[in-house]
Amino acid sequence: MPRAPFSLLALVLGLAFLAWAFSLAGTVGAPSGTVNYTTFLEDLKAGRVKEVVVRAGDTRIQGVLEDGSTFTTYAASPPDNETLEAWTARGVSVRVEPPQGQNALGFLWPLLLVGLLIGALYYFSRNGRAGPSDSAFSFTKSRARVLTEAPKVTFKDVAGAEEAKEELKEIVEFLKNPSRFHEMGARIPKGVLLVGPPGVGKTHLARAVAGEARVPFITASGSDFVEMFVGVGAARVRDLFETAKRHAPCIVFIDEIDAVGRRRGSGVGGGNDEREQTLNQLLVEMDGFEKDTAIVVMAATNRPDILDPALLRPGRFDRQIAIDAPDVKGREQILRIHARGKPLAEDVDLALLAKRTPGFVGADLENLLNEAALLAAREGRRKITMKDLEEAADRVMMGPAKKSLVLSPRDRRITAYHEAGHALAAHFLEHADGVHKVTIVPRGRALGFMMPRREDMLHWSRKRLLDQIAVALAGRAAEEIVFDDVTTGAENDFRQATELARRMITEWGMHPEFGPVAYAVREDTYLGGYDVRQYSEETAKRIDEAVRRLIEEQYQRVKALLLEKREVLERVAETLLERETLTAEEFQRVVEGLPLEAPEEAREEREPPRVVPKVKPGGALGGA
Ligand code: ADP
Ligand code: MG
Ligand code: ZN
Repeated sequence: MPRAPFSLLALVLGLAFLAWAFSLAGTVGAPSGTVNYTTFLEDLKAGRVKEVVVRAGDTRIQGVLEDGSTFTTYAASPPDNETLEAWTARGVSVRVEPPQGQNALGFLWPLLLVGLLIGALYYFSRNGRAGPSDSAFSFTKSRARVLTEAPKVTFKDVAGAEEAKEELKEIVEFLKNPSRFHEMGARIPKGVLLVGPPGVGKTHLARAVAGEARVPFITASGSDFVEMFVGVGAARVRDLFETAKRHAPCIVFIDEIDAVGRRRGSGVGGGNDEREQTLNQLLVEMDGFEKDTAIVVMAATNRPDILDPALLRPGRFDRQIAIDAPDVKGREQILRIHARGKPLAEDVDLALLAKRTPGFVGADLENLLNEAALLAAREGRRKITMKDLEEAADRVMMGPAKKSLVLSPRDRRITAYHEAGHALAAHFLEHADGVHKVTIVPRGRALGFMMPRREDMLHWSRKRLLDQIAVALAGRAAEEIVFDDVTTGAENDFRQATELARRMITEWGMHPEFGPVAYAVREDTYLGGYDVRQYSEETAKRIDEAVRRLIEEQYQRVKALLLEKREVLERVAETLLERETLTAEEFQRVVEGLPLEAPEEAREEREPPRVVPKVKPGGALGGA
């Protein structure tokens, strides 16, 4: 078909939209009889009010009475949320319009029109498909993605998270057969909040709930509602719930709800009007749907602490389910799920891999298997080997190896001794973790790293923490011993050591001088959080000194250890210079002074640069 008719169609549709937009803007302005505020209140009390329309920030209240007549009244101040909620509680249907903002709208409409025309032209010319569709004019439409077919994933595809699944079974039952629950008069939670760090499978789990119940899954992200133009977010929320009502029974999933659900009124200035309105609309919608609507709203966040308390009240997100990073068994199960359909060599031991990846969440593990498959495919192999998986684990943790980075011989030597220092400390200190791998192949931002053989452990003893600090400081200590000079490569090590020392004193009550007192309150346990200081200047000074002393002690201790084991240090470092990487077994042999098998041929492949590497908090000790 020729192009011209499409642009014509777009123009017509654009004009139609304009007309529609103006009519929308006019709805509230429609004339109707003005009554006293007192009369309105009386009508309200008597249950005569059916529907009310207010405009945010406006004192005018319009509405419809039970007998179908319309009215307008004016309040002294714009009705606040509490008031609106009270009306809703009385069974009045409350609609909140975005504020008028004459000027804003004045310049907005032409812009909107032009934007829409261009959008429509583009849309139709690209798709070559006529007829208005959901996505053609979507400014105030929610960006919700609607899966009208139930998702294919079910609880079978979610590994671990047993408690969470158990809790969600009730919701699944309800969605499968809402009438049974309604007949019993049971109140089913409308909102479920999934709380947990990124990548643990919150979205995955929500999908699985829809998949289990075989209902549509309607998803939107909190950031979809955050817009520059006041009112747009609220309109999108309204649209989202309109969509949901059409597809009930269904699940509405709002990802990253903290983007809209932040505590109201905490910002400075008037900058968050838009977000407040969006949040208010969300609250109104959640309160608004009737008892026999089978919609369950699920939301995900990793910052439950910053959510507006109103969101967590009964009838809203009153059910919270925490999802944590998986433990070793969970990791193994997740690996098994994602290894389905991937050809694994006989030597692959997923249980062992799970042991070696503490701190990895579901998303990391999925990524790991994918990276391993890519590695195997690139080398034209038929099966994924354990070596691929190990390499993939390193990549996921530290980024790809930088084979192209050529270090000067001196840099390589320093790195080798530095990493050997970490490794020796991890090996010889009684409460340290042991060595999983040590390498001087640069990766990500690190010139080399020593990966401890760490197990999941929820309790850290004081002795283990002290050894941990000593291990972190050992790289620098080795440099000092061997080169009688130090380099900048230990920055990250110091940060780790200092953080541990400080927390031992201020949070974990592990310093005799300070006793079991919490000197800092962690407000936010996710994302590392920030501390609120609760002590005097003088105590602050004493803490600083104690941290310094503690670190100095550990530094001296580990330096003495390395001096004592100087021979072993040399041996490990020299072997590293020769082979670049030592596995746990190889390291053990070198420490014992046993010979190693001939090094396998140097790996020839060169790797393309990849995405920004990330470093796991509990991960390897990098640096050079
Ligand atoms: P979140 O929403 O918590 O950030 P996602 O649900 O997006 O995490 O998880 C990312 C991916 O990781 C999912 O697509 C899924 O394949 C995988 N995943 C995460 N947790 C699990 C799990 N428990 N079982 C199986 N796969 C998981
Ligand atoms: Mg997610
Ligand atoms: Zn280091």
